[in-house]
Amino acid sequence: MPDTVLPDDWDARAKRHSFFGFTDLPSIAERGTVVLTRGEGPYVIDTEGRRYLDANSGLWNMIAGFDHPELIATAQAQYARFPGYHAFFGRMADTTVELSETLAEVAPFEDAKVFYTNSGSEANDTMVKMLWFLHAAEGRPQARKILTRGNAYHGVTVVSASMTGKPYNSVFGLPLPGFIHLTCPHFWREGRDGESEAAFTARLAAELEEVIAREGADTIAGFFAEPVQGAGGVIPPSEGYFDAILPVLRAHGIPVIADEVITGFGRTGELWGCESYGFVPDAIISSKALTAGFFPMGAVILGPELSDRMSRAVDAIEEFPHGFTASGHPVGCAIALKAIELVRGGLLDDVRRLTPRFEAGLAKLAAHPHIGEWRGRGLMGALEAVKDKATKTPWDSHLSVSERIANTCTDHGLICRPLGQSIVLCPPFIMTDAQMDEMFDKLGGALDEVFAGLA
Ligand code: PMP
Repeated sequence: MPDTVLPDDWDARAKRHSFFGFTDLPSIAERGTVVLTRGEGPYVIDTEGRRYLDANSGLWNMIAGFDHPELIATAQAQYARFPGYHAFFGRMADTTVELSETLAEVAPFEDAKVFYTNSGSEANDTMVKMLWFLHAAEGRPQARKILTRGNAYHGVTVVSASMTGKPYNSVFGLPLPGFIHLTCPHFWREGRDGESEAAFTARLAAELEEVIAREGADTIAGFFAEPVQGAGGVIPPSEGYFDAILPVLRAHGIPVIADEVITGFGRTGELWGCESYGFVPDAIISSKALTAGFFPMGAVILGPELSDRMSRAVDAIEEFPHGFTASGHPVGCAIALKAIELVRGGLLDDVRRLTPRFEAGLAKLAAHPHIGEWRGRGLMGALEAVKDKATKTPWDSHLSVSERIANTCTDHGLICRPLGQSIVLCPPFIMTDAQMDEMFDKLGGALDEVFAGLA
């Protein structure tokens, strides 16, 4: 390192040789970066010794906080016993076999089969490749189109970014052809003047019918949906949404994939987000809370029909030519087994216990004249900032209102996330009541400060 940078100047060191993803560079040029050294429960501590309550569980994943002793001990024990292996050529670690058994037990399916990846993006890519492979093996090579929704977030690899319904991917020339985005089921923002929520939901089901008729059902490989859209700004679907669209998809034989990367393992108050909305998909994409954020890992969990069809397709071709070096990594699997034990052994109950306090905190802040709505499910929630509450008029985007709110929170020791014009909260399940009150007090103070400055 050049000696113009002092060893204890972590901000300069971070900027010099590291890229940050999804980071507004003018903002960090002005405010500096935050370099973290350790965690304590739901708090993270930076190189300057400042403590932040992380209201986003890292990136939605650290559900058990940042220093859970059982997860650490499990990782240490597995590293000591068998620190790494793959899942190729008919070989895999015993721990990997055990995790698949456990996932088959906890998945909302009669039976299941699992394929491991290192991330949620790769799990979505893997699922798309499985669908393409499967349809081709069954004599439908033209079935390649993928249906997702506007504002959906499915990841950053070329395929999962194409599935993502966000305009920023145009800088990469994405989406690829054949990735079709339906209307986001956000009634408050997408509903038309005078339209009831039921009519809005019916309109979205009709749109799906039209898209399938226009494209041809036999050209569509599958439909992917987050039960609650996360990085779109925490958007629970409109009333009756899944009940309305699933029969359309089923009637056309289109596989339904639930992207449970955020919602899986308790976030919505049930083990799976699809359970919160009363449906059983054909497959589940999992990551994040799967290892409580303690190891990079994703999983495709196929329900019985897709796993039978996939197994037959693989038998016919004799191999599924896909996999990652660290697929089914034994340390990740050991941690996931422990994380699932913790979720079933109490963390899911914690989500249910904390949810009323969380909703009350959001509802209270939503009374603010510049908060248009609060929304959420379980322990994921958002407040949408507006210039004018009655007309739902957003703030001018150059004001960067949500970023200002999040920056003010950071200055007061609270990490929360700006997404569009909303502020997103996704706290660790281990938060105490007092920590949750601290979160809302700090956020409320930041809202007052920022909106007073804009008045
Ligand atoms: N799907 C969803 C629903 C997500 O929220 C995310 C990440 N936020 C992903 C996929 C991608 O996961 P990863 O960042 O691990 O690739």
